Formats: sequence, C-alpha cells, structure tokens
Amino acid sequence: MNPIPQIKLKPKKDRPLQLRHPWVFSGALTANPSILPGSLVDFVNDKGNFLARGYYNPNPSLAGRVLSWQKEEIDRPFLKQRIIKAQELRKFLGLTSGDSFRLISSEADGLPGLIVEKFASCLVVQVLSAGMNQLLPAIAEILMELYPDSLIIERSEDAMRKKEGLTQSVSRVISGELISFPIEIVENGLKFLTDPMDGQKTGFYLDQRVNRQIIRQYAKGKRVLDCFSYTGGFSVNAAVAGAQSITAVDQSEWALNRLEEHCNLNGIKNTDSLIDGICGDAFQILRDMQTSNEKFDLIIMDPPKFIKNRSQVDRGSRGYKDVNRLALQMLNPGGILATFSCSAHMTADLFQKVIFGAATDALADAHILQYLNQAPDHPILMTVPESYYLNGLLLRKT
Ligand code: SAH
Repeated sequence: MNPIPQIKLKPKKDRPLQLRHPWVFSGALTANPSILPGSLVDFVNDKGNFLARGYYNPNPSLAGRVLSWQKEEIDRPFLKQRIIKAQELRKFLGLTSGDSFRLISSEADGLPGLIVEKFASCLVVQVLSAGMNQLLPAIAEILMELYPDSLIIERSEDAMRKKEGLTQSVSRVISGELISFPIEIVENGLKFLTDPMDGQKTGFYLDQRVNRQIIRQYAKGKRVLDCFSYTGGFSVNAAVAGAQSITAVDQSEWALNRLEEHCNLNGIKNTDSLIDGICGDAFQILRDMQTSNEKFDLIIMDPPKFIKNRSQVDRGSRGYKDVNRLALQMLNPGGILATFSCSAHMTADLFQKVIFGAATDALADAHILQYLNQAPDHPILMTVPESYYLNGLLLRKT
C-alpha cells in the first residue's frame, strides 16, 4: 500500500481538530498540495504530530474531512463498523421496525459526505464529496450485504458536488431490481409516496417525522394553513386528526397534486372540500391572504433553506421574519404556529430572536410551548454543531 500523504496545518490552526470537529479548511493548511481529489491523508500539526485521518480535496475551501481520530486503516471493515454503528442507533430508536428512516447522516455518523435513506425496500445513497465517492464501491458492497433484498440506488445531486469537482447529478441503480416508482412508504401509520429516481427532487423529508406527529394533537376541528407544504406531510396528518379545513401553499404544482394523492391513499374523505391547494410564491400568497384578513388556528411554516452560506444569514433571516410575521398576524388568539428553519447557519438562538422580531412586528404575543428539531435518525453530534440544522418553535398566540 502507498504511504498516506501528510497534510500540515498552520500553528494554532489545529484547535478544531483537537476538539474533534471534523473539518479542515484550506486556509488552515501550510500548503495546498496537489493531491488527487478525495485522497486519503493524515492531518498533522505544525510539529508534524498526527491529528486525524481523513480525505482531502484541493478544490473546495472545505478541503479536508476527518474519518478517524486514529491511525487506522480506512478499509472495508472500518466502513462496515461505521455503518453497523449507524444501524444500531436507528435500532435503539425503534426505527428499524418501521419501513423508512435515515440510515446514515454524514459527519453525524462518522461518514462525512454520505447520506443513506431507507424508503421501504429501497435504499437511496447520496454522495456529496470526492473523498466519499472514492469509498462508494466498498460502501455499496456493505449495503448489499446488510440489505440483500433491497433495491439500492445512487441519487447524488447537490451543489456541493460541483465544488468537489464531481459530476453534478447521478441517478443509477447500484444493485437490485428496478421496481416501479413511486414507492409507498409508511410514516407514523400514514402512507406516502416517493420517487427517488425521478429527475426532479422528489424525495420525502424524513426529518419532520416527529414534528408531523406533534402537530396532529393541535389540528382537530381547526382551520389549518400548511405553508411550503410540499407533498403534504403535515397536511395529511392534520387531515387525519380531523382538521376543519386545510390550505396548503407551495410553488410546485406537482407537489400539490401529490398531496391530493396522499389524502386519497389515506382514506381521507371529501378531499376536494377539505383541502385548498394554492400554487405560487408563498411570500405573495401570505401577503394577499393577510390583506384579505384571512384567519387560521394552526399554521405550519416549513420553508426551504433560505440561508445556504454564512454571507446569506442577514438576508435569509429577513425571509424567515417576513413569513412568520404574516403567519402571526393571521393566527387567531390561542392559535398554534409550528415554525421551522432547515438552514444550518441559523442557530437555535438566532431563530428564536428572528421569530421574536416577527412577533413584535405583528404586535402579537406568544408562548413557546416546545422547541422542535430534526427527527433523531438525523442525529446531532455534539462535536459538530452544523449537524443540528432543523430548528423549530411550537408557539401559541396569547
Ligand atoms: N413541509 C414539507 C417540506 C417542505 S420543503 C414536508 O413536510 O414534506 C420546502 C417546499 O417549499 C418545497 O416543496 C418547495 O417547492 C417549496 N417552496 C420553495 N420556495 C417557495 C416559495 N417561494 N413559495 C412557495 N413554495 C416554495
């Protein structure tokens, strides 16, 4: 085996690694060696002492990601041990008896750049870095061994791949027989459809599983607004809980049609009169609704990631504030707002401040009933604050 190249960090720049934070930015390096993107390397301090083993890519500013804090072989047994550990957590959480969950969540499961989700009998693998791409053949073999009856597909599509010098989008079968899509999955006893092979982004957001269950208890007999509804994960839960009416807003007509299918699939009666799907820009639609003095008793606000990098924090925060101000204005007294941010750059503290600002502008007062976050199969690793990306507040307007 070739010796593993060493990459040296500048003096004092080894602090994050000492604290077991698994990222190395190019600015922390004494030189930017031109090694093949995705190569295994050892990160060492300025005195040449070993810090961590991981992979390296000279292209992105996030140049290094740690796989191990020890000098151990990064081989198939190593990878298998990581995958089994991830599986054990899901088993501990009682999820392996259900049919859909996130099996591997990147850094939080010690496998940076890899996401694996199980949708019924289909495993969907997402590879987000050149380093993980090098390890993919071994990972695929292990997944085949652990899930011999599953269809395993790769569905890698992310802007990060471009920075890594990887082709933009991959949609292919790794193993197993192609089944007809969409696949039916079960979440909290309800049926949903997902097409992981489809050209558009048509997966299913598993990270909201617990929160969907939570809003059920507030929906009975209520007028519900599900803003940024996608295919209706929240709407269907509100419907089975006996909501009086549901307004679902999304810019994707495809998603709203799928929402209707989801209602039928779950035996919801009178879908046409119960659910009003509005297709368009939520910012505009909310403003129009507010102008025409619409009122709701339960509002779910689950926008896409408004903040993609640090430079967007201010602008993105204004977006969150805007939609939440309108929501709080339209909420009846005693009404519930379940509001979320899936931007990792939006910390829990900042999110609460932004929503506080929205409430002040709306001249509304509210109690925080509960702090919400991502379902635990999207684990938050204490040493990696970035793995805590979904923040939510469950508010009750006074
Ligand atoms: N709540 C959903 C997930 C929401 S994902 C669930 O539980 O499954 C974010 C959604 O916001 C996507 O469906 C996307 O189509 C929609 N979206 C993004 N920008 C939008 C905009 N400006 N107006 C309306 N919908 C938007």
